Amino acid sequence: MFKLHNVSRLQTLSRFGLGSLRSSPRRWFANSNGDISDKWPKWLQLMTRNSLKNPYDRARVMVMIGVTTAVYSGLYLFARSEVPITQRKQLDLVPCSVERKMALREGEKLLQQHHHLLLASNEGVVKKVKEVGMRLLAKNAQLLKDIPAPEEWKFHVMNEDGPTAVAFGSAGLCIVSTGLFYRIQTEDQLAAVLAHEIAHGIAHHACERVTEFGLYIPPLLLAGYCFHAAIAIPYLLLFGAMMPRARAMEHEADVMSLKLLHNAGYSPKSAADALLTLGSLGTNAHMSNFKRASLATHPTNIERRERVEAAIKTMFPHAS
Ligand SMILES: [Zn+2]
Repeated sequence: MFKLHNVSRLQTLSRFGLGSLRSSPRRWFANSNGDISDKWPKWLQLMTRNSLKNPYDRARVMVMIGVTTAVYSGLYLFARSEVPITQRKQLDLVPCSVERKMALREGEKLLQQHHHLLLASNEGVVKKVKEVGMRLLAKNAQLLKDIPAPEEWKFHVMNEDGPTAVAFGSAGLCIVSTGLFYRIQTEDQLAAVLAHEIAHGIAHHACERVTEFGLYIPPLLLAGYCFHAAIAIPYLLLFGAMMPRARAMEHEADVMSLKLLHNAGYSPKSAADALLTLGSLGTNAHMSNFKRASLATHPTNIERRERVEAAIKTMFPHAS
């Protein structure tokens, strides 16, 4: 006779196939008492939260892991877009309108903070930066999908000694320091610097990083639910893994800039020359090998120049 009231909680789970976690020889958690298996390594038992001792919670965690894996696999397979020029597949889930608002806000904030350093738009330096930037944009207009058209872009020069250039591609804003302008040696090298910054915008690198950061959060919450704080260690390592990603984006912007330069009639080789010039100024040159390998978001100029020279040979084999 079937007595429902005699059926234990775990047996009920078993009827739905979840109890196999307990009854199967391949069970992954429980011993006969339903507690965390004493066959687990001691360090894993210590790290695991009490909530995971409950078979229902274990089943719930399994379902969450399954759903998360399915969603991430779906995103990886179906939601990736292609970066122009390099054709790399990327996952960028930030809508264009949100990306534009974020870029406008950041750009405005930077301009407000440094408004006393900005040169007037009728100064020769500003006119030159704008002329070079507009030529790059106009000759590569077909690549500016989802970012402002050339006529919407604004170029500023900041009276700042450090050699700096930054662009908010989605907002159509580019800022160059006088320190960079006066030290860079030719118009082609200035174009190379601007092309690199514009390439970041075309590739939507900022939003790709926001997406990657967001994708770390659900597994992190899940790990927090299951384990004590010690599990944070592998996640810190995962965040460390994002640093090489940032460096890969720098290399990608370098490679893309070669095409932008070529289309605009500038010499792609000027990208390598600009890195040589900036390297001789000490930009990035202070980093130790350890920093370069682990913590730095930017590769060294030497490393970038080597890769740019290799890319030039591949992309423009007949260039002198
Ligand atoms: Zn960059």
